[in-house]
Amino acid sequence: MQSNLLSLEDKVKQSIREVPDFPKPGINFKDITTLLQDMELFNEVIEHFTRELKTENIHHIIGIESRGFIFAVPLAMKLNVPFIPVRKPNKLPADTLKETYALEYGKDSLEIHLDAFKHQTNENILIIDDLLATGGTALATSKLVTQLGAAKVSFLSLIELRFLNGREKLESAGLEVKSLIKY
Ligand code: AMP
Repeated sequence: MQSNLLSLEDKVKQSIREVPDFPKPGINFKDITTLLQDMELFNEVIEHFTRELKTENIHHIIGIESRGFIFAVPLAMKLNVPFIPVRKPNKLPADTLKETYALEYGKDSLEIHLDAFKHQTNENILIIDDLLATGGTALATSKLVTQLGAAKVSFLSLIELRFLNGREKLESAGLEVKSLIKY
């Protein structure tokens, strides 16, 4: 009974497991596998995002490997738009474009298929990941899709870590940012 009175944000927050010091000391990992145990709640999340996005005229949805895929595929199905994977290096089989970006220690890269979407005018792309932290991953992905000809790029995540200012980084690069729950 009481759970019906909670907002979607509260229910999702309660469903996420926090794992301290993973994958390294000082990181408080937000584990969504516990949310995925509750398909009714996961479905509520997907329905909520579908309502938010259905008037936005999105042409393609990009999922960032790997947890971005979990949200991107059902949303692409609901909105009836193609899904495009952005993956870690050397996973995509055909010709790719690569973007390398800085991490706290070292660097990482992401790739997209060169023919992932047709270079039409006004291509409106939505990038999805499970969590926005510093914004480096999302910004690298937006550089990939911009190089492929996207006119408008926006970003959606389930979780946003506000204290890491990823939103500011993405907004100053011209992306619109949406997230369901904030810490
Ligand atoms: P960033 O590039 O700093 O915005 O980091 C975002 C990426 O790292 C996303 O793909 C997240 O899945 C992952 N990530 C970063 N911090 C966390 C965290 N505290 N808990 C879970 N995943 C995280």
